Amino acid sequence: MADKPRSPIESGCPDGFQYIHPVMRKNYGAWKFHEHPKPGVLRHVGYSGDEIWTVRVGTQRILDVFSLRELCDIGDEFADGYIHFTIRSNVEYMVSDPAKVEPLIEAITAKGYIVGGTKNSVAMLSHTQGWLHCDIPGTDASGVVKSMMDELIDEFRECNMPNRVHITTSCCQINCGGQGDIAINIQHTKPPKINHDLVSNVCERPSVVARCPVAAIRPAMVNGKPSLEVDEKKCICCGACFPPCPPMQINDAEHSKLAVWVGGNHSNARSKPTFQKLVAAGIPNNPPRWPEATAIVKNILKAYKEDAKDWERINDWIERIGWPRFFEKTNLPFTKYHIDNWRGARNSLNASTHIRF
Ligand code: SF4
Ligand code: SF4
Repeated sequence: MADKPRSPIESGCPDGFQYIHPVMRKNYGAWKFHEHPKPGVLRHVGYSGDEIWTVRVGTQRILDVFSLRELCDIGDEFADGYIHFTIRSNVEYMVSDPAKVEPLIEAITAKGYIVGGTKNSVAMLSHTQGWLHCDIPGTDASGVVKSMMDELIDEFRECNMPNRVHITTSCCQINCGGQGDIAINIQHTKPPKINHDLVSNVCERPSVVARCPVAAIRPAMVNGKPSLEVDEKKCICCGACFPPCPPMQINDAEHSKLAVWVGGNHSNARSKPTFQKLVAAGIPNNPPRWPEATAIVKNILKAYKEDAKDWERINDWIERIGWPRFFEKTNLPFTKYHIDNWRGARNSLNASTHIRF
């Protein structure tokens, strides 16, 4: 046995601390308080007496090299050479001198970027990758983000909402994205079409069979070749078979739709997590501007803004007014598709005889 354990070989992303603004690094975990002087600007004060001002800037989500250089140049000139990307693709600049805040905002807005996204505003939509670098999308999530944020620009720039609103997108039905106050998700409505000529060369059939959550896929011989078949009565059109077996094409220009879900929230110090619920389905997946989905999101935001009490998140608001009132206030039709009839939903169904208000 060796005397000393071998040092691990570090691969993966580098230590992020080296890229943090020095004042942030010095005061990490030792902040006395923070405040919100105006939309898009935060001020943190540390126990050491240091303070740091953060200016948050919305981007168009997919950044070309020119825009990136432009944003970095602003960071070099006004923000001590540091730049920070948030998980919602915003850019944050940090400065330790309050006199630098306004010139920084002027330089950013002069280049056409928008400052905002803090406190009780609509933050930038978070998004999955869509056609950019994923192999299973049913739509271009980044395009939905850009089109919707173009319409919600005033809600990003100002703090007019009862509380913060996080909107998310998801470009397939099974993987990342899709948990937010409002989520715009792809929704397949037809079972996959199988290209039997390709299955035996491309797919590992046992993996595909194992992948189906409702056991709807079976091995089959078609035209003398090993292939697969789908029991369409069982299929829930989730699209999980498409990634391991691309010949099971499920994405469809007409039948892949969008759905809007609301009320998802992570747990925090005061409340349990809440699961989002479907409120609109079968919305046309209509690039390049997705006007139907955007209209529904704006409508929900309008009802929330008018009716929610201060500091209620969307899930708190719906919990208080109840789902029937939510559908009345948003004018969204309630259909049979809103009823959770999946057999595993027994735990979440209201099965008690007690009357609830
Ligand atoms: S949501 Fe699905 S398709 Fe979109 S990036 Fe994530 S895994 Fe890929
Ligand atoms: S779409 Fe989903 S439910 Fe339908 S066959 Fe494929 S994996 Fe199974």
